[in-house]
Amino acid sequence: MSRPQWQGLLRAQWISSFRMARTPSRVPSARVAFSTSACRELMEMTGFTEEQLTVREAISHICSKFPNTFWQERDQQEKDPKEFHAALAKDGWLGIALPESLGGAGLGVSEATMMMQTITQSGAGMAGAQAIHANVYATQPLAKFGTKEQLETTIPNIINGTCRICFGVTEPNTGLETLKLKTLATKTTDGYSVTGQKIWITCAQVASKMILLARTTPLEEVMKSSEGLSMFCIDLNRDNPGLDMRKIKKMGGRAVDANEVFFDNYQIPANALIGEENQGFKIILHGMNAERCLLAGEALGLGYAALEKASQYAKDRVVFGRPIGQNQGVAHPLADAYMKLEAAKLATYHATRLYDTNDGSVPFQSIGVACNSAKYLAAEAAFTACERAVLAHGGMGYAMEYDVERYFRECLVPRIAPVSREMILNYVSEKVLELPRSY
Ligand SMILES: Cc1cc2nc3c(=O)[nH]c(=O)nc-3n(C[C@H](O)[C@H](O)[C@H](O)COP(=O)(O)OP(=O)(O)OC[C@H]3O[C@@H](n4cnc5c(N)ncnc54)[C@H](O)[C@@H]3O)c2cc1C
Repeated sequence: MSRPQWQGLLRAQWISSFRMARTPSRVPSARVAFSTSACRELMEMTGFTEEQLTVREAISHICSKFPNTFWQERDQQEKDPKEFHAALAKDGWLGIALPESLGGAGLGVSEATMMMQTITQSGAGMAGAQAIHANVYATQPLAKFGTKEQLETTIPNIINGTCRICFGVTEPNTGLETLKLKTLATKTTDGYSVTGQKIWITCAQVASKMILLARTTPLEEVMKSSEGLSMFCIDLNRDNPGLDMRKIKKMGGRAVDANEVFFDNYQIPANALIGEENQGFKIILHGMNAERCLLAGEALGLGYAALEKASQYAKDRVVFGRPIGQNQGVAHPLADAYMKLEAAKLATYHATRLYDTNDGSVPFQSIGVACNSAKYLAAEAAFTACERAVLAHGGMGYAMEYDVERYFRECLVPRIAPVSREMILNYVSEKVLELPRSY
């Protein structure tokens, strides 16, 4: 049996075994499988595809082995959730959106987004999502533009979890003006010498590879700043000279590390280059819309998790002789947060559908607008839900054991990264409303 056929069979088995598991007698339903979330699924579940529901069921089953206390402890101890990464890798989930020919499941961003939403919603929060996020989306440009050798040596190990990957784009001195990035990869006789600095690189401490965006032609020598960039898949060899990294102390998602990474004449081989030299910007574009969808899903999951906690607490907590949720001042902000999440959910899965259409029938700009809008709306809805969840808990909203303080700290991430709210508003102002570019 050829490899693709074998993979197809595996996928079919996956789907069918989890479909069977959807009958209550075999595996608990998703709502029971969420170990420490509130007992009822708040999100309206109609409209999802059978594959999305299957993914949700299977992922929530894995997440149920990692209760909220696990994530509380890892957050406090700033300790990597490597067991969680391994559990997802063991069942092949890190290859959810990679082609079957490379050992992946060949599903789309619609299913991958559901996977990421289910992870954050389980109580794992952004820490759980960020532990695997780059493995799911940063591998997309590699899968599309990598050489046969690159694919064969890298992708299977990412899928089976032996190799973790991080994404190196942001630089301290250029920020959201990505095209001005300065890290330089200078050609040598047998490869490149990399010099420069990256910042906020998630999971760099635990990753053995980095997808790196660097200049191969200095900014002063190109006509347009989108030219002269190249993408590499490099080894992070800490024993080799020229590589250093420093952890950043941060507000939330503390289980996963974020880092400054310093390159000082760090040597990489010529075969680390992905695609053609100086074509890195076009290559990175390939992954950007997908990443916005995944982040939107992650934000949604966090928002629903917070709202589930808040509505449960509002039913249970009795003050002035009645549940606090009987007061409209408590109930209405939560009801409003629910509608905002539901609206953002529709925008998110609309964007993933457009992204996955992939037959040229949807203009690229429509996909970009939908994906950016989804990320914006989901991040805002999550922020609203998380803030209100803390307030509905009163003093207990500030206590670690109720989890909502953790969600609140983490819900700022989708508002900032990978692109800020302001830059999405700039984008929609310019591309949809055709207003003059403001920057
Ligand atoms: C937890 C976390 C994890 C991250 N992980 C990674 C990672 O793995 N890899 C990676 O490469 N990067 C990562 N990032 C970086 C992230 O993508 C950037 O922080 C983000 O793109 C914002 O860039 P900046 O921080 O440099 O902000 P800046 O560019 O300095 O912007 C600062 C503020 O000014 C606003 N602003 C700037 N210009 C304009 C304008 N023209 N109009 C309106 N407002 C403007 C921005 O919206 C923002 O609010 C991560 C960040 C965080 C917080």
